Amino acid sequence: MQITFTGTAGAGGVPRYGCECAACVRARQQPEYQRRPCSALVETDQVRLLLDAGLMDIHDRFPAGSLNAIVLTHFHADHVQGLFHLRWGKGAQLPVFCPPDPEGCADLYKNSGILDFRQLEAFRPFEIGDLKIVPLPLNHSKITYGYAIETVSGQRFAYLTDTVGLPESTEQFLKSWGAFSLALDCSYSPQATPPVNHNDFNLAMDIITSVAPRHAWLTHLSHQVDCWRLETDYQLVTSATWAADGMIVRL
Ligand SMILES: [Zn+2]
Ligand SMILES: [Zn+2]
Ligand SMILES: [Zn+2]
Repeated sequence: MQITFTGTAGAGGVPRYGCECAACVRARQQPEYQRRPCSALVETDQVRLLLDAGLMDIHDRFPAGSLNAIVLTHFHADHVQGLFHLRWGKGAQLPVFCPPDPEGCADLYKNSGILDFRQLEAFRPFEIGDLKIVPLPLNHSKITYGYAIETVSGQRFAYLTDTVGLPESTEQFLKSWGAFSLALDCSYSPQATPPVNHNDFNLAMDIITSVAPRHAWLTHLSHQVDCWRLETDYQLVTSATWAADGMIVRL
């Protein structure tokens, strides 16, 4: 299984419009530090699927027929905004697996075009080609699923954004899942009072220590956490690294 981090930002991206913080200034000067909406491409010999659809140029990056499916964590704009253009495409329907959110986002359900929305159920596995995928509930302001993705040969990858901490049931699942790699929400630097909708650095480190993945990549990163990284001597849990746009990992 190969994972490409197609985007690693939270809402607003890096650089953030009009912001002059050190991280945003650097990202304007050095494009390798830019971050686009949080998303990832998962590939095996049989399957190409895109986790989240916040990139505004999905239709350019992935020509018709090049994706087997899109899998959505939730219906916040920064995770679905690329669908608003894609839906008016021609040809075959594109399966879009998603949490059972009664509202979706704007008129996506009503005018779905080529998008074939398929609502999932927590902990009920589904299959796309040679991948078995289990939706895992997360803690967020809208119904949100993370995904436990497994190949037939037993490679495992968990994708957990957007969340603040983890529900007990999801934590238990991961602890008993077997060796896996992880992509995890780390939207903010350590906060004095824990944030409401996303992990700060402390919560992300706590989760990694608790569920003990082989390796963890921190994603859904804000300009604020990038700025903090420039100014602070922090200590990462040894199995963790920061994700970057375009980063490719083979499991
Ligand atoms: Zn988000
Ligand atoms: Zn900034
Ligand atoms: Zn969100």
